[in-house]
Amino acid sequence: MMKKKILSLLLIFAMVFSFVSVMPEDSAYADDEGRPLTEEELREQMQNAQNDMNDLVNEKDAIGAQITALCNEIDKIKEQIDLLDTDIKTLQEQIKQKEEEIVKKIEEIEIQEKNLNARLKAMYKNGTVNFVDVLLGSKSISELVYNIKMVRMIHEYDVEVVEILQHEHEELERIKAELEEAKAELDKKRDELASQKAEKDAKVSDLRAKQEVYDAQIADLKNLVRDLASELTGYVGGEFVWPLPSYTRHSWYITSWVGWRLHPIYHSWRFHGGTDIAAGTGTPIYACGVGTVIKSSNYSNYGLTVMIDHGDGVVSLYAHCSKLIAQVGQVVAPGDKIAEVGMTGAATGPHLHFEVMIHGDEQDSMKYFPDIEAYRPSDVIL
Ligand SMILES: [Zn+2]
Repeated sequence: MMKKKILSLLLIFAMVFSFVSVMPEDSAYADDEGRPLTEEELREQMQNAQNDMNDLVNEKDAIGAQITALCNEIDKIKEQIDLLDTDIKTLQEQIKQKEEEIVKKIEEIEIQEKNLNARLKAMYKNGTVNFVDVLLGSKSISELVYNIKMVRMIHEYDVEVVEILQHEHEELERIKAELEEAKAELDKKRDELASQKAEKDAKVSDLRAKQEVYDAQIADLKNLVRDLASELTGYVGGEFVWPLPSYTRHSWYITSWVGWRLHPIYHSWRFHGGTDIAAGTGTPIYACGVGTVIKSSNYSNYGLTVMIDHGDGVVSLYAHCSKLIAQVGQVVAPGDKIAEVGMTGAATGPHLHFEVMIHGDEQDSMKYFPDIEAYRPSDVIL
């Protein structure tokens, strides 16, 4: 009876507690006491999430570089294995040829031995060159000596032929053994390379799995950043992420920095308000930070252009695209694909013209990327 009472009390508590926890709040993000986070605290959380995300992206890139290096090594090993396979095949053919020669040689020896035996039989039994005949048939001592010599010579010749053949046979066996030894050595080398390759293949798939884990974590952080951004009004601040794939691996290169330059098409001195980053047509372009897409269309000399409003007058611009993906009004998180590299508008080759403005003033867009900033040539006039 008592037990039942306690149980129902617990049930009521649980119901009340769950009711409280689903009570609507001003913000989805609150501290331990349930107090909604202030704008500043939300920004800080988002900044942390963005930093974590940047770190993960860099780590993922580093893993990507490792994978590329390993794949190159694997390709080289594959080439070596292919070469060895060719050599091994040649040796196998040579060994087979020697085996055939050996069989023939043995046959020759057998025939020669048969001949020798037959001749000996013929000489001593029913043949014409009977030793006694030779002796009796000799008309003089000198002829007898000569005839004996002849019989001996014929016999010695026959024996010699067998010996030569046997020697040739031995020589063939020796060459065959050498070839087999060489082949065994190559087989061993090949096995070693094959196990090296298997080891590296396993490493690559481990790294790929790691990358997938990073991808999932990055996606989670991106969602968190996006959610936090929707809680905020005004510029969300924070470090920008690099607008092209891979921050560390240079599949792109900077061809023009922000500053005064002799324009490649107009051939006059003009202020270049963005950074030109050469990359292949179709290379994905990513939003550099949280914001709302305010333009995704053709924009005269800029060609197909995306602009993102990051709040508080901060706008990033991506020009000369071959394809636009982001829609006007869409809220994007850093790393979201918004367009693809191209050369629409006034461009001499496929590149991303990346610009950051504050209240319409062109900023030095590279100041947001201090690592890349270090490569800036000294002759750029800002
Ligand atoms: Zn440009």
